[in-house]
Amino acid sequence: MINGIMFQAFEWYMPTDGNYYREFKKKLDDLKRIGVTAIWLPPVTKAISLDNTGYGIYDLYDLGEFDQKKSKRTKYGTKEELLELIDAIKGLDMQVYADVVINHKAGADYEEEFMAVPVDWDDRTKEMGEYRKIRAWTGFDFPGRANKHSDFKWNFNHFTGVDFDSISGEQGIYKILGENKDWNWGVSAEKGNYDYLMFADIDHAHPEVKEELKGWIDWFIKELSLDGIRLDAVKHIDKTFMEEFSSYIYEKHGKDFYLFGEYWDGNLDNKMDYMSATNYRIDLLDVSLHYNFFNISKEGADYDLTKILKETVVSDEPLKAVTFVDNHDTQFNQSLESYVETWFKEIAYGLILLRKDGFPCIFYGDYYGIGGEFMTDPMKDMIDKLALVRKNYAFGDQDDYFMEKNLIGFLRHGNEEHPNKMVAVISITEKKTVSMFLGEDQKGKVFEDITGNTVEKTVINEEGYGNFIAEAGKISVYIEDGLPL
Ligand code: CA
Repeated sequence: MINGIMFQAFEWYMPTDGNYYREFKKKLDDLKRIGVTAIWLPPVTKAISLDNTGYGIYDLYDLGEFDQKKSKRTKYGTKEELLELIDAIKGLDMQVYADVVINHKAGADYEEEFMAVPVDWDDRTKEMGEYRKIRAWTGFDFPGRANKHSDFKWNFNHFTGVDFDSISGEQGIYKILGENKDWNWGVSAEKGNYDYLMFADIDHAHPEVKEELKGWIDWFIKELSLDGIRLDAVKHIDKTFMEEFSSYIYEKHGKDFYLFGEYWDGNLDNKMDYMSATNYRIDLLDVSLHYNFFNISKEGADYDLTKILKETVVSDEPLKAVTFVDNHDTQFNQSLESYVETWFKEIAYGLILLRKDGFPCIFYGDYYGIGGEFMTDPMKDMIDKLALVRKNYAFGDQDDYFMEKNLIGFLRHGNEEHPNKMVAVISITEKKTVSMFLGEDQKGKVFEDITGNTVEKTVINEEGYGNFIAEAGKISVYIEDGLPL
């Protein structure tokens, strides 16, 4: 989709009152207006408790429909409300993506006893002691659902590991033993083998699991009329399975069905390997770019701004990158905390929204602000402006002016349908000017900065050049004076 924008429609600390689906529905018109084309919903499946974000997943077939884990609804509302929200999104001709958590399951219905061996936390290939019988929460029969939608029951054979033995009362990582049982090996090589992340880790090499998950995803996509899914924690999920799974989804739902994944690793090569192993069916969130944003927001003038796009998915695989500034995991006090400093947010959003490459994703927490203890202010007005520039003026060829360590700029030339030019300039240390060639046909035109960061306007000279000012620590985004946003 040309100049599409994804909106990540949740943050970690949203209220657990169950009003989310209803409340978010009211925000859709506004998002449509600024050019949002796809909504990424939180995990809509039943989690271990009402206040869980959905990543502590209990039942894939319960979308807020059954009285399980002490309530019918999830943190976000009921299935009926979810379907109404999805109808409203579709009614505005926006796409719907759901968050899919299939690395693990949590909150089992009963304990089971089986053979296992503890492994080293830092090297999961290293067994730490005797094989032993342990007792753990691995039995799922979903009594509250009573076989509706599926009669599949999960037991310890369907998992690779757990983190607690209630016989000894000891925590640790326990690898489940048995015939053909081992960690899944098509996973990140961090910690020797990073199959195990949390809770009861699903064994994606087990034939019954593969069939069950395929059947489920087919049902899930149809039930919610989804246009795409975001795959959670893929570096912990066997890539051989993911290749098979994504191929199955394409077969059933067509190649336009959109798949993107969270491979949380700053290292670019690992992400490239994963994309190749899954036949480039799964776009990846550009974690490398996020870390570049985070690092420069901390280091300021010490960071070389001309390298801002180096070693990123968007540079190496521009058509496969979902670019983002922050998300629910990078927020304060979260597992992957790396929150981009406020002063840099506008620059970062300018870079993801106005450049040619990448599918940019706006984060709810940046847009509306974060709630609770780690409260932040909304940046809606700032993001609205940049999104509207993307929608109306960020088109056509791009010329980069990566001038010096603390000064960069770029120019979009427009296309037939959107002929106006757009200029962005960013300086970190002090007020500077970038001279850009817009074309002789632009002479005499006056450009102004829609962010309001720079007051001075720029007049294009006889030769077609303009001197564009960047204020210290800011981005300025110029369009022709008088054009509406
Ligand atoms: Ca795993």
